[in-house]
Amino acid sequence: MKFFHRTLPQSVRFGSGSSHTALAAEIEERSAGAVMIIAAASELELAQRIVGELDVRLWWDEVAPHVPIEVAERARAAARESSVDLLVSVGGGSTTGLAKAIALTDGIPIVSIPTTYAGSEATNVWGLTTAARKETGSKDVVLPATVIYDAELTLTLPVDLSVASGLNAIAHCIDSMWAPNSDPINRAMAEEGLRSVAEALPVIAEDPVNLQAREQLLYGAYASAVAFASAGSGLHHKICHVLGGAYDLPHAATHSAVLPQVLNFNVSASEEAEERIARALSASDARSGLEALYQALPSTRALSDVGYERSAIPQSVELILPIVPDSNPRSVTPGDLTEVLERAFTGASIA
Ligand code: NAD
Repeated sequence: MKFFHRTLPQSVRFGSGSSHTALAAEIEERSAGAVMIIAAASELELAQRIVGELDVRLWWDEVAPHVPIEVAERARAAARESSVDLLVSVGGGSTTGLAKAIALTDGIPIVSIPTTYAGSEATNVWGLTTAARKETGSKDVVLPATVIYDAELTLTLPVDLSVASGLNAIAHCIDSMWAPNSDPINRAMAEEGLRSVAEALPVIAEDPVNLQAREQLLYGAYASAVAFASAGSGLHHKICHVLGGAYDLPHAATHSAVLPQVLNFNVSASEEAEERIARALSASDARSGLEALYQALPSTRALSDVGYERSAIPQSVELILPIVPDSNPRSVTPGDLTEVLERAFTGASIA
């Protein structure tokens, strides 16, 4: 066994109903005197509940998906004007993304309080959109110093958004099996994340206010994101990045349609991935395990349902081929990619 593994430095405070005390402790330990709370208008009530009587210098609620550069610039200027020394984000990946955009230029530490399962809080990856083009990069300064997880904050997340961001977490786990920096540590973490998310998601689809399942999902989403932050983007994320960018497809639905087909294509070539995924899904094999999970969830299965045209497949293949990671367990020909996209287009079953 020979590998290089990197763990990102981050503290985690996990506990239902404890986000107010956890935030108060963070502010005190960091001697923060000028706190900026970032929460979208729809997340404001949650943020106010967490903050309570704590001293806040600046409230910021202008948040938009994929962090438009204009929004980031306005938030950065406001943070500077108020001499902010601690950023606190309360919300989903879009809100965490805005805090990261401020940290990127201004080096202010972040305490992140996630209210979805997207997992951005556990990565050092930032994203910014300029003139409809999303640029991403990784830099440790954007990694939140502390994450506060409080499952009570996720009880209001509607089932469709819960399933979409839960499947995002599952994609982190499965792609970690063959991503460029995949190693035994992040693969073990990915297996644990997959087990936990896959067990909790169907329960939440039936009973959205089940706190125990919400805790399990949040815990699993964290493990998934840590695995992904360490392993990097594999074939699945490369395909989704191209499709999302070139054809303006919805992020979550694209992931959901592509994931089964990437697993179907890769898994026979990696004995360890087959074993880990099957075990995590309590199934006899990885394909039937993922298929059964999809059957139990209200999720998008076909790219044809999200505005992707079959005629775009040849161009998509050309765009994806040069960025297929060398780490992929199978070599990928144009014919292979065409088949993966054809199957994703129709939402073919993999069992
Ligand atoms: P989101 O942040 O856009 O939130 C979706 C919607 O849910 C918003 O309207 C939000 O206000 C609402 N919401 C959030 N929490 C809620 C709650 N508890 N109750 C009710 N409503 C709630 O979506 P997301 O899936 O969390 O994040 C997606 C974004 O994150 C994408 O831009 C994606 O690229 C990014 N992302 C980044 C990374 C990274 O490592 N940098 C990782 C994963 C995702």
